[in-house]
Amino acid sequence: MKKKLLIFTLFNFCLVFTLFAQTNQVKSRNEVISAYIYLLSKNTKWPNEKNLQKFTISVLEDGHAISDILRDMTKGLKLKNRPIEIVNIESINKLYLKNTQVVFVSQSFRDYLDEVDRKIGDGCILLISENAVDMKKSMINLYEDIKYRINIEINLNNILNHELEVNEKILLTGGSRIGVSKLYNSSIETIKEQEKKFREYQNLNERLQKDLQWKNKKIASLQTEINQKRKEIEKKKKEYKKTLTLIEKKEKLIKEKVKNIEKKEKKLKNLQENYEEMKVRLREQKKLFELKQNEVTKAKENLTKYSLLLEGKLQKIENLDATIKEQESMIKKGMQIREEQANKIQKQKLVLFLLAVIAVLLLLFMISFYRNKNLLEKLNKELASAKDEAEYANKSKSMFLANMSHELRTPLNAILGFSELLLQDERLSKEYKKTINIIYSSGSFLLTLINDILDISRIEARKIVIEEEIVNIKNIVEDVVALLRNKAESKSLDLEIIYKTVIPECIKIDSKKVRQILLNCIGNAIKYSHKGKITVSLSVEDDYINIMVADEGVGIAQENLMTIFEPFKQVGDASEATGTGLGLTITKQFIEAMGGKIKVESELGKGSLFICKLPYIACSDNEVPINLVNRYTKKVIGLTANSKKLKVMIVEDKETNVLLLRKIMEVLNFNIVVANNGEEAVELFQSFQPDLIWMDRRMPKMDGEAAIRKIRMLKGGRDVVIIALTASVLNDEKYRLVEAGANECASKPYKIQEIYQIMKRYFDLEYIYQKESEREEEQKDFSYDILKVEMEKLDETLIDELYNSALLLNQEDMQSIIEKIAMQNSNLSRMLQQIVDNLDFAEIMNVVEEIRGQRSV
Ligand code: ADP
Repeated sequence: MKKKLLIFTLFNFCLVFTLFAQTNQVKSRNEVISAYIYLLSKNTKWPNEKNLQKFTISVLEDGHAISDILRDMTKGLKLKNRPIEIVNIESINKLYLKNTQVVFVSQSFRDYLDEVDRKIGDGCILLISENAVDMKKSMINLYEDIKYRINIEINLNNILNHELEVNEKILLTGGSRIGVSKLYNSSIETIKEQEKKFREYQNLNERLQKDLQWKNKKIASLQTEINQKRKEIEKKKKEYKKTLTLIEKKEKLIKEKVKNIEKKEKKLKNLQENYEEMKVRLREQKKLFELKQNEVTKAKENLTKYSLLLEGKLQKIENLDATIKEQESMIKKGMQIREEQANKIQKQKLVLFLLAVIAVLLLLFMISFYRNKNLLEKLNKELASAKDEAEYANKSKSMFLANMSHELRTPLNAILGFSELLLQDERLSKEYKKTINIIYSSGSFLLTLINDILDISRIEARKIVIEEEIVNIKNIVEDVVALLRNKAESKSLDLEIIYKTVIPECIKIDSKKVRQILLNCIGNAIKYSHKGKITVSLSVEDDYINIMVADEGVGIAQENLMTIFEPFKQVGDASEATGTGLGLTITKQFIEAMGGKIKVESELGKGSLFICKLPYIACSDNEVPINLVNRYTKKVIGLTANSKKLKVMIVEDKETNVLLLRKIMEVLNFNIVVANNGEEAVELFQSFQPDLIWMDRRMPKMDGEAAIRKIRMLKGGRDVVIIALTASVLNDEKYRLVEAGANECASKPYKIQEIYQIMKRYFDLEYIYQKESEREEEQKDFSYDILKVEMEKLDETLIDELYNSALLLNQEDMQSIIEKIAMQNSNLSRMLQQIVDNLDFAEIMNVVEEIRGQRSV
């Protein structure tokens, strides 16, 4: 048995030797031992392998030769995938067996084997020793009989107790009682074959390793690529998220906008429906209007024909009437005188008769009769000359009136015309324009006054005509008060307006007469007051408007209250009487002609109250009050290229009037010459051959009428357009000028626009007007931007209301909205009022649209 074992051991040793000699060429004893320890550890199957973190092999030796070799050999190797730790122990006391899997006891510690074995106890340890003495303990005994050979023993008990399974293959190396017989039979060839296979596997393994390395590299590169792509994806994800939130936001906005649009669409639909209704109504009204217009034009034509005829006839009849009346009164007076005379004669006859009875004085009777007859004739003669004188005086009065008004109108033409031109001049500041405006208004009123002097003569002849206009009565009162305020202030008098009831914004009334009534009453109140205040109050009662002018002035004595309305009657202190005594007469006559009444209450020294009760007509829905003095008409700034360049002759003796006409035509670049009288005009006409002549009527040397007649006889004189200009208000004078050959006759003072319109009627002229926007800026004392800023403060409903009433041109609604706004923002209401007064509803709509645009964003 021993022999067998020996052979077997030898064989194993040779095998171990061969195995390691081939690769490491280990020849030393220690190396063999180390290889053996490693192989044994490797081929043992540990029952609690799974819990192991590492394999610890403790080497008990004198020095550290085996430990070093074993550490070297196992460097980088792993035992069942766990790291191997080699612990070198040089003293038995230092042997610490916990967590140790293999203990090798070298020869130098063979005496301690029992102690080591005891220490191991039941621990699951593979005990290997170089010198196994007790076979119970040892499993293997290598070269046990050779002193310098290696003796290795494994603790068999330990293996059995702890069910350590030792690979059969390793048992071959040391020999074992377990399965030895089985293995013994297997041939070396098989082992060799196995070894060969092992090599092949190793090669395969190497190749696979290389392949694996290459694949790993590829995987790594793929990994980096994947990482890059991942990063890119992350980036894109972030971007996507961002765009998603943006899209969501936009979606919200779009939804809101859609809602807004829908709202607007609804509103628009409503407005459109309103608009359509209005359109239909308008069309109907237009048709009606056209029908009526046709009727009116026909009637007008007939009327003008008849009125021309009638006027002539009336004039004659009136003249005849007046003459007849005068003659009648003369005759009556004559008759009276005659009757008186007849009575006298009768008496004298009686005396004569008595004398005749006495029969003495027949001759005397004859003489007396002869005398009386002479007296009668004389009286008759006196009567006739008195009548002539009266007629002459009346004629002179008319002539005087006509002449005076002409003389006054001529300079007024220059005053009004030039101030109108100055008002259009952009170079002038607002301050200047205000002053010029006062000149213009004063001039206008002066003109009205002149007309009123004529009115008095018309009143006397019972010729008052009532001309109703659509107006805002408040504007008229405010205008007159503004005009007289300076005067009142110069006398330290307070002047205020009070509206006692709601005053309609639009009424139909003869505004010119109302103005004059106001001017007279307020003017008197100022004139006849030295202290206190003057109150102009307005109230409406049924179809009457009451204008009351109260003052705290000198007052009127009770007995004079009735006489103040008589012509040329001035009462009270003579020093106060600065007027003509005509004012109240005109006022009363006007009021009565309008169907109203005037009343006066007064107390001497305390003041007076004039109450004028005037009937008025309410406006219908579509009527809008006209602007009283439209000083800002569209301004002509030139002519288009294809308009005719005219040759114009101005025939006028007054330099200011020439200047004014020249100024008006200056922008048109016409060729203009001036003749100072009719004679010069006739002379100049032949050489200049004008297209148009402005012909003044009254001039020295040769007047307009004669000049027109002469020019019409000259060569080319038939074709020239002659416009006569006259300050006279007498119609027959105008007829005479037209009869003489004037194309038409314009009255002085004329409006600038009138001159442009007359020229356009006769010639192919196309004017270039100043842009509306530029004019608008000039007219208003606020800018578009300020208006917008103020309107932005309004709430949505007010803005909507404003827009709708502007769209429907509903002035009444607009007015009530402006009143509402006035309570919150007086500045804005003032601006809106100006816009509405100019009928510029489009501007309000523009601002609202801009504000809405901003709000929806
Ligand atoms: P005038 O004022 O031009 O003299 P009016 O016809 O206007 O003529 O007035 C007639 C007269 O009536 C005046 O002269 C004045 O004596 C008197 N009168 C008119 N208004 C007033 C008034 N408010 N206060 C005192 N007296 C007045």
